[in-house]
Amino acid sequence: MSDCIFCKIAAGEIPSNKVYEDDKILCFHDLDPKAPVHVLIIPKKHIASMDDVAAEDLELMGYIMTKVKDIAAELGLDNGYRLVNNCGEDGLQTVKHIHFHLLGKRKMTWPPG
Ligand code: AMP
Ligand code: ZN
Repeated sequence: MSDCIFCKIAAGEIPSNKVYEDDKILCFHDLDPKAPVHVLIIPKKHIASMDDVAAEDLELMGYIMTKVKDIAAELGLDNGYRLVNNCGEDGLQTVKHIHFHLLGKRKMTWPPG
């Protein structure tokens, strides 16, 4: 999508601090970290939100889930971590390209705010 900031990051048109990249997904550091480690994992394909995940995205979404532990290990999150998706208005989603926040290196609290 031409006016999507994460599509532009995926295309290399906007710089990011990359942690992991392959042909399907990209992981980069969040600009405004909420934990000592805070990265975003995105599919390169534009999917607006969890509400927009289609049956054809089954393999891609599953692929992301299998990569989380590898990225967490790479970042040294050996004592656990939190994976977050914000969806829509109530979920406080600000960027309308699906992404998973991977946060770690501090004790999280529950429930989230
Ligand atoms: P959300 O509120 O779940 O939509 O999360 C969007 C996240 O993207 C926020 O944590 C922002 O700090 C982050 N963000 C926005 N623009 C950029 C960018 N250019 N590079 C890295 N992170 C970004
Ligand atoms: Zn996009």
